[in-house]
Amino acid sequence: MAKDKQFVTEITPQQEDFSRWYIDVIKKAELMDYSPVRGCIVFRPDGYELWENIQRDLDRRFKETGHRNAYFPLLIPESFFQKEKEHVEGFNPELPWVTEAAGDILEERLAIRPTSETMFGHMYSKWIQSYRDLPLLINQWANVIRWEKRTLPFLRTSEFLWQEGHTAHETEEEARAETMQMLDIYTDFCETMLAMPVIKGQKTPSERFAGAVDTYSIEAMMKDGRALQAGTSHYLGTKFATAFDIKYLDRENNLQYAHTTSWGVTTRLIGAVIMVHGDDRGLVLPPKIAPLQVVMIPIGPAKTREQVIGRVDELYKELKQAGIKVKVDDRADVSPGWKFNEYEMRGIPIRLELGPRDMENGQVVLVSRVTGEKRMVQQDNLLAEIDQLLNEIHDEMLERAKQFIVDNSNVVDTLDEMKQLFEQKRGFVEAGWCGSAACEAQVKEETGATSRNIPFEPSVHKETCLVCDEAAKHTVVFARAY
Ligand code: AMP
Repeated sequence: MAKDKQFVTEITPQQEDFSRWYIDVIKKAELMDYSPVRGCIVFRPDGYELWENIQRDLDRRFKETGHRNAYFPLLIPESFFQKEKEHVEGFNPELPWVTEAAGDILEERLAIRPTSETMFGHMYSKWIQSYRDLPLLINQWANVIRWEKRTLPFLRTSEFLWQEGHTAHETEEEARAETMQMLDIYTDFCETMLAMPVIKGQKTPSERFAGAVDTYSIEAMMKDGRALQAGTSHYLGTKFATAFDIKYLDRENNLQYAHTTSWGVTTRLIGAVIMVHGDDRGLVLPPKIAPLQVVMIPIGPAKTREQVIGRVDELYKELKQAGIKVKVDDRADVSPGWKFNEYEMRGIPIRLELGPRDMENGQVVLVSRVTGEKRMVQQDNLLAEIDQLLNEIHDEMLERAKQFIVDNSNVVDTLDEMKQLFEQKRGFVEAGWCGSAACEAQVKEETGATSRNIPFEPSVHKETCLVCDEAAKHTVVFARAY
């Protein structure tokens, strides 16, 4: 077998075993490695840089909408968790505790934060006195720990990196507007930066964040048809304000509880990007977050090598200066074919080839990772051509992912229909739901699918509940999910 072929066959085909494909790809592309602690991973430089690029753009969006960053402590006193009943019930099973330090048993156990509503609540009660202190709009970039039973690199780890926004407002209306604004920011970010379409909607009560009044989510579809909750935004009402005594004097001098929100996305987004766009050759990275956008490979016989590399270096400088993330691979001991496979596996959006004939013609060859299309372009116009191709690649990835959702979405009337459907395939299934937790639980028990959300824009409005046939309150998207 040719060396180049062998390289690709080290990746399990998606159709054969999607989970194995995923692990093969992330390990081979050196995005992560397992750590000695169960459920925790090491983000290797190429994996971490994806996160840095995600972070940079989101951070800009948060600041443009008036938020500021701060940093709150990792350790949270146990008593804080006891203050909000639903919150503690929801998070208790996943909390790791610090009970001892420097040889002494602590008077009060300290939790390693799973999320920081309690700590923000405690501090906000000190900082907020009057309506003049509102709105208070703070975000933090941090790590959290949730002791997960089932883990999968990036998608569900025990320690993960995230941002958590926590805001306090005078009125319910304002706090709800903030909740929606952040959901919209996540949605737009996923489409314009990750080329990842999502379904926006409200979570059913059983899937709500512990302690929230309303939880909203964005849901993405992975290439195996399973759903992934890609981000959440919560309206917390006055629940945390009551628990932590976040009160302010309003414009009429009355003491009121503030309305609070919280919202977050995590390093799970890295896994989402891989599972939405990857193929049997490996990663396919969205140009706007790819650590490397263009790899330049000089080709041709040894006698023209020096000349070709000279020209490649000139073009490299031009691209680099213009802000393109670019690298030259001029290793002499590795064949071009091997390099092509390697950078395809790593998901680099554009491969640029330059050989002696291209030198003569003043051209280069650009190859798109997503379509495989080869484009002969003029060196004189290289930057514009690259910019355009990067944009086309983004658009193509987004279109394909949108089409994939369309092709793998269905509508059913009854639970039987849903069962039959899930026996044949995966994907999103819309159905009517009466609003009862029992009917929702029955769907899960009989199909393994959970309610993802109540979409803001369902494709149909169903009249009856798929389980009990009573009048439907909502049309819900169900799916088997990660
Ligand atoms: P939550 O604070 O529970 O609303 O979680 C915020 C977001 O974190 C969710 O929307 C998920 O996308 C993500 N998430 C939850 N658990 C994990 C985990 N164990 N690993 C990575 N991401 C997670």
